[in-house]
Amino acid sequence: MNDYNAISLWKDVTPELWNDWHWQIRNRLSSVEQLSQVINLEETEKHIIRDSLNTLRMAVTPYYASLMDQNDPEDPIRIRSVPTMMETMIMPEDMVDPLHEDIDSPAPGLTHRYPDRVLLLVTDQCGDYCRHCTRRRTVGETDRARTKEEIDLGIDYIRKTKGVRDVVISGGDPLTLETGRLEYIISALHSIDHVEMVRLGTAAPVTFPQRITEEFVEMLSKYSPIFLNTHFIHPKEITEEAKAALKLLANAGIVLGNQTPLLRGINDCPYIMKELVQQLTYNRVRPYYIYQCDLSQGISHFRTSVQEGIDISEFLQGHTSGLAIPQFMIDAPGGGGKIPVPRNLVGRDGRIVYVRNFEGDTFQYVEPENLMAPACPQACQICYQRVERGQDMPPVGLQKNFHRGVWQTINARPNP
Ligand SMILES: *Cc1c(COP(=O)(O)O)cnc(C)c1O
Repeated sequence: MNDYNAISLWKDVTPELWNDWHWQIRNRLSSVEQLSQVINLEETEKHIIRDSLNTLRMAVTPYYASLMDQNDPEDPIRIRSVPTMMETMIMPEDMVDPLHEDIDSPAPGLTHRYPDRVLLLVTDQCGDYCRHCTRRRTVGETDRARTKEEIDLGIDYIRKTKGVRDVVISGGDPLTLETGRLEYIISALHSIDHVEMVRLGTAAPVTFPQRITEEFVEMLSKYSPIFLNTHFIHPKEITEEAKAALKLLANAGIVLGNQTPLLRGINDCPYIMKELVQQLTYNRVRPYYIYQCDLSQGISHFRTSVQEGIDISEFLQGHTSGLAIPQFMIDAPGGGGKIPVPRNLVGRDGRIVYVRNFEGDTFQYVEPENLMAPACPQACQICYQRVERGQDMPPVGLQKNFHRGVWQTINARPNP
């Protein structure tokens, strides 16, 4: 379990406080000074973090920070929540609102893109601000929930729009709302005849699993069917605390899924992805989607080629249970919606990938310009060990397609 008392900042924190999600949110690390009490930062890094913070605020829960390797800037936990200078780089293909969520919006925070389902953003607050956030144009802006009046406008729209049978509640992170506030929203939706199901999109099991209390799951279980999609991006996040949270939810009959973007330097490796989806499945979380990283401003360093996502999907196919295989999607820039790839990939022209959506319209995704292969220490550990144990063989295509240096590194290692 977590030895947070070893970190001087939290040496006097009792288990009661540590396990209280309100304490976790109140004590998020939001300045360089606080962060440097938990991980070792070089002076230059401190300046860089300060400079990057005007794009998207930083707020790391003590729990999530306690999972970080104190000395490793490549630690996936650290990359997820600590800004780097890369965020200040804006590419020509970057867009403020690539998914047109604000444009296709008939009520505050509500996006109605598909005929039968809507997205309702109830807050811009998150437990922990992911550096790869696609909604960084608004997320963290106020670090608050929407007002009841605004949320009511969204619910009114859903009530009078008979075609809506599925409501995705997201944010921000809706689980930063108090249980009573959330129950108000969920019960209002549940009472609408044509709304058949409610989904929650949340990273709480990842960054503040203390949020998943018995009281909370009891509330949710009254409004079945409830689906909850989590946002695990790396196997290192599946801790004892996270597993306990998932178990509470699954035991209460909440149907669990996971959505992860494909992120360069974090999970763009077939072995890491396989480890992630298998561990999720073991914890009763169905891997739902892998997304191609969106064209939001300042996240180009996280993007991979589209081919990498296709290669990873092909690798998973056959190498693990079908139940553990997520669908690879591109959320089309310009508001075309989610498009399955390679099924709906209709062409390529240099860095431009053409994809066709469910309405037959074609959209363009622009791949990143520089795809240098950075070193990938986590990947090597996982695949090196697995290959050593004879559990896996590299599929032939991957040996040459994968430019992450994974196989070269393995082959270059001396035999122990
Ligand atoms: C992702 C999303 C949904 C839900 O889509 P599914 O593919 O059913 O998970 C609904 N509305 C919007 C605007 C979305 O972005």
